[in-house]
Amino acid sequence: WEELEKTDRAIADVITRERERQEHGIELIASENFVSPAVMCAMGSVLTNKYAEGYPAHRYYGGCHVVDEAENLARDRAKQLFGCDHVNVQPHSGSQANMAVYFTCLEPGDTILAMNLSHGGHLTHGSPVNFSGQLYNIIPYGVSKDTETIDFAEVERLALAHRPKLIVCGGSAYPREIDAEKFREIADKAGSLLMFDIAHIAGLVAAKLHKDPIPFCDFVTTTTHKTLRGPRGGMIMCREAFAKGVDKSIFPGMQGGPLMHIIASKAVAFEEALQPSFKEYQGRIVKNAASLAEALLKHDFHLVSGGTDNHLILINLTSRGVTGKALETALDKAGITVNKNTVPFDTQSPFITSGVRIGTPAVTTRGFGSSEMKQIASWMDEVAKNVENDKVLSRIRAEVLDLCGKYPLYAGM
Ligand code: PLP
Repeated sequence: WEELEKTDRAIADVITRERERQEHGIELIASENFVSPAVMCAMGSVLTNKYAEGYPAHRYYGGCHVVDEAENLARDRAKQLFGCDHVNVQPHSGSQANMAVYFTCLEPGDTILAMNLSHGGHLTHGSPVNFSGQLYNIIPYGVSKDTETIDFAEVERLALAHRPKLIVCGGSAYPREIDAEKFREIADKAGSLLMFDIAHIAGLVAAKLHKDPIPFCDFVTTTTHKTLRGPRGGMIMCREAFAKGVDKSIFPGMQGGPLMHIIASKAVAFEEALQPSFKEYQGRIVKNAASLAEALLKHDFHLVSGGTDNHLILINLTSRGVTGKALETALDKAGITVNKNTVPFDTQSPFITSGVRIGTPAVTTRGFGSSEMKQIASWMDEVAKNVENDKVLSRIRAEVLDLCGKYPLYAGM
């Protein structure tokens, strides 16, 4: 650290201030988490120096025998954690993991049936502004207007009408458990392959809190940095029949040298996820989300689908007369970080939105429990009623600071 301060004061200052921001605020962004010091240590290691194009024992560079061990550990632990046939731990991000699956099983112009972004899908599931929407023929499905949950009748109707080569399930803002078995049945009827993007719920899947999707899917992709609590990155799991194709799509198809420091850090995170305490942590994430949802409902917030089965909650603010953008900004002033998010059938643009998405992985890592969830819901209610009242927002800011002081992050580091 002293070296960094000497070499680059500006960046040292950014890191110090960002650390303080994380320490002194409440992090409710559903896709974020706080990694352990061990995970961070592997990321900041000499492994960043090594080029290792290829795969363990089949590299295009010399001197890879040591880093090979890190990649093998990451692969073995991922397989143990998820029980999959084959895993590729090299994708630099979740988006690249998804791209690699598409490159493995599709030609440009092929049809994908995937969840609409504004109904909870992800950009890489066919948004027109993303490569997926530009390269492939996307048929979007969504949630039904009355239950705000996936409309399986519509999924089946679209699948049979369009016979997509690939069906994609999973999403970024869907608060309910996704039934992979139902998707498999539809995929079989339509003659489609099935990919489940478990980026958000990977920790819950690893802890077996949601029904195991692996037996029902041809491909399962994930990020490693959300509920899974590892370094930023991606991963692909697939059936043995697609193993060679997936590996070739990642390297040499899409990426060059793998990030060996990140792969080692993924291995550390998987080791942590194999411990009994991880299952207990995932259980607390879900319990906190349920407590937060219940408290928000008491404050008359409209929750999309009426609640949550996982780590996230999508709030439709229309009845509160405030936009997602206005609430995000006001909560920021109060020291609570959320992201504005479109809701199903939103009439606002993605820059304004009618909703906010929140989640409990980060606050749960911090040690918050159900009484803090009630307190957060009460603050959110007060902020929603006072988005322009700086006096109220700064009073809440002081209260948030006080609560955060009781749950120090990275103590002693
Ligand atoms: N898939 C889903 C469901 C996601 O929520 C995300 C990220 O938010 C991604 C893929 C992409 O991950 P990355 O940001 O690492 O590219």
